[in-house]
Amino acid sequence: MAELVVEDIVKEYPTRTERLVVLKGCSFSLSAGQALAILGPSGSGKSTLLHIVGTLDRPTSGSVRLGGVDPFGLAEASLARFRSERIGFVFQDHYLLPQCTVLENVLVPALAAGGVTPAIVERAQTLLARVGLSERLDHLPSEISGGERQRAALARALVMRPMLLLADEPTGNLDRAAAAAVARLLVDLQREESLMLVLVTHSLELASHFPRRAELEGGRLQPLAGAPSLSPP
Ligand code: ADP
Repeated sequence: MAELVVEDIVKEYPTRTERLVVLKGCSFSLSAGQALAILGPSGSGKSTLLHIVGTLDRPTSGSVRLGGVDPFGLAEASLARFRSERIGFVFQDHYLLPQCTVLENVLVPALAAGGVTPAIVERAQTLLARVGLSERLDHLPSEISGGERQRAALARALVMRPMLLLADEPTGNLDRAAAAAVARLLVDLQREESLMLVLVTHSLELASHFPRRAELEGGRLQPLAGAPSLSPP
């Protein structure tokens, strides 16, 4: 059964002269443990779509259901809690807090959700070890490399055990070797944690790690040749 159902998403922005229709009806669905890579050039609407799926922005029309819940039907405070419990985000920029250590940064979502328990600290340490940072727990973000910062951001995104991980150009600021390491971790952690993953990128190389791929073009989502359908049975 699909745990994420995205149906006929339309997004328009009013501009001074006309309405800008960025998304013209985008649909896809994922079951637990499935990943989708969405390709498209800069300006095609990838971030817009990802923000809507992540409940950070509302569609002009269309619907999102995650784990059977319509997030846009929730009041603002419930929506914030829903988002922090169910969705993890990795962006092109790591957004780590510069004054906090790597471990503290990974614990930030737990603080926001009501408290850091010993179990959460253990989860954070386990994740940081999994992404190769167990020797860097007490370092500040400025004391580690760009690839390490992005791996810490990945651990932070997963600390609350979300059902859905959203990644927006997660390797966009990295050199080739660091990008390959982050891509491998995304693929492996998505499987290990049985996560749903939606990744948007303009990088064919990054998208090639995922069997299910689609292209956002002209405001619509099309499966890439040879890739599985966007709505599994
Ligand atoms: P991508 O992530 O593929 O680069 P975006 O989703 O960021 O594309 O943007 C898609 C289009 O929507 C762009 O033309 C952008 O200028 C426009 N856009 C994005 N956000 C807004 C906004 N808040 N107001 C008006 N136009 C916007």
